[in-house]
Amino acid sequence: MSAIPKNAWGFLGFGLRPNRWFFVCALVCVTLAALGHQASPYLFKLIIDAVEAQNMNLVPLYVALYPATFFIIQLLYRVAALLVARVCIGGKEHLYNALSVYILNHSHGYFADRMAGSLMTKISTAANAFENYIEYVIWNYLDSAISFGSTLLFIAFVSPLAALILGVVFIILFLLNYFLSGQAQAYSKISANAQSMQSGAIVDIVSNSSIVRQFGQQASEQQAVAMVSATAKRAEYTTRFYGEKMLLVNGLVITLGFAGMMWRLVYEYSAGSVSTGSMVFVLSLLMGMAYQLLYLGSAFQSGSQQFGQLKDAIGELLAPHDIVDGSDAQLLVVTAGGVLFSDVTFAYNQSAVFNNFSCVIPAGQRLGLVGPSGAGKSTFVSLLLRQQDIAAGTICIDGQNIAKVTQESLRTAISVVPQEPTLFHRTIRENIAYGKPDATDEEVIEVAKKAQAHDFISGLPEGYNTLVGERGVKLSGGQKQRVAIARAMLKDAPILILDEATSALDSESEVEIQHALHALMAGKTVIAIAHRLSTLREMDRIVVLENGAITEDGTHDTLKDYGGTYARLWGHQAGGFLE
Ligand code: ADP
Repeated sequence: MSAIPKNAWGFLGFGLRPNRWFFVCALVCVTLAALGHQASPYLFKLIIDAVEAQNMNLVPLYVALYPATFFIIQLLYRVAALLVARVCIGGKEHLYNALSVYILNHSHGYFADRMAGSLMTKISTAANAFENYIEYVIWNYLDSAISFGSTLLFIAFVSPLAALILGVVFIILFLLNYFLSGQAQAYSKISANAQSMQSGAIVDIVSNSSIVRQFGQQASEQQAVAMVSATAKRAEYTTRFYGEKMLLVNGLVITLGFAGMMWRLVYEYSAGSVSTGSMVFVLSLLMGMAYQLLYLGSAFQSGSQQFGQLKDAIGELLAPHDIVDGSDAQLLVVTAGGVLFSDVTFAYNQSAVFNNFSCVIPAGQRLGLVGPSGAGKSTFVSLLLRQQDIAAGTICIDGQNIAKVTQESLRTAISVVPQEPTLFHRTIRENIAYGKPDATDEEVIEVAKKAQAHDFISGLPEGYNTLVGERGVKLSGGQKQRVAIARAMLKDAPILILDEATSALDSESEVEIQHALHALMAGKTVIAIAHRLSTLREMDRIVVLENGAITEDGTHDTLKDYGGTYARLWGHQAGGFLE
């Protein structure tokens, strides 16, 4: 898929691209229909002038032509509407797909700074703004432009001075709306932002609804929602108020312009230089034009709002990716699975975590990372996954710099069992097979058995086809972990990262998870942020991290006897967990 343009016009063109010929055909249909619509009152003039001249044989033809023209015009509009539907619906599909792919390539940090609900709102805003804008272009801007052009031309034949007045009104209205729409855009951008904050806040509360209930915080959450809602309300009110002001100013200009024009036409009619038929023709054109002109102001205003919202949404969604593959990025080829951190320096914004940090993990080694909270353990694994780029130094896997290989090949080589595994709201089978979608049922069951998950899955009403609820809420913590372990087993990557749960699982889950982890670790390079006594015992080597530096490094036995931080942490353990 080609790159999504980051400016609003380019973005609209991108949405249009798959159906551009349908769009061109729609433009042609609407142009023909609008021309026909404007020209049809000319038949009134022909009828009146023919009757006045007592030339009756042409009258039946003119009378028959009017409904025929009317029907053809309707037909053209309906065809255009179908073409527009194709352009809008197809364009939205294209944009939803492209935006979802684009945002999935944002870094860990991007998502950490934003709320899922707010991002979703921005994706919908961008796709809907595309649809609305196409509709405005076809039904308002194009239709109006043709109406104005043809009306101006017809009136010019009847009375050049009246046409001149109308031309001046058009120009004033155009310039006025053009300048006022800049401010309308700014207001609507603020309003769109406030609305996405509102959805973000509500989605955040809904996804944490159980915590809200457990802490009895409904009242304070209600207040928080009321605050963001009030901000959204104020912003929207300001936007609408400004829109009404624009319409009022338009109305004033139209009133003055039309008064001048009527005066001129009536003057020429009474002087006898304009026929009755021409007068009726021009008046019927002007009647239609007055409301269309007024509506143009509101179309300009809505168009500006959409444009403002679109700019805001794509500014946020299409922010440059923090971490990108180099143009010459190679595929990572893991032969053994050795990991090397050499002179790595890294800071979150200004707060330094690692300074010239080095660590060698030979292939196949099981390394336990321990240390106080905030020491840098999660950052260590995050850097290995290249969720952040380092400021200096290199991180290599089997001698290949991870910054020089494709992110996909890097992450395919590493399995992660996170501290709090989240699952998709899909079946258990799909969740287990996530790293290997073509896995057979036998393979899925085999890993589930090894991960001690088969028995509980078989006991569920729909077995492997049970839906697990959003983020896996229908499973217990221990069950989710075993599904995550089975998922990692099936992926079978040579490097394994374990971020162990510290939550006190019941002792049965604990034993089962221990068996599952044991099976998972076989034959892999393992980096475990280890909390469990039993896991630490299984490690070939323990590294103690403190303030981003290795302070102790050795086997469980040597460090226990050494009498340093590890021995102290070990002494604090209770029930198999480090406190
Ligand atoms: P540990 O896993 O050992 O508890 P972390 O690697 O999570 O430690 O954190 C190391 C330091 O980096 C801490 O001071 C923490 O506050 C900081 N930190 C972690 N994540 C972020 C982040 N996303 N933005 C800013 N600072 C962070």
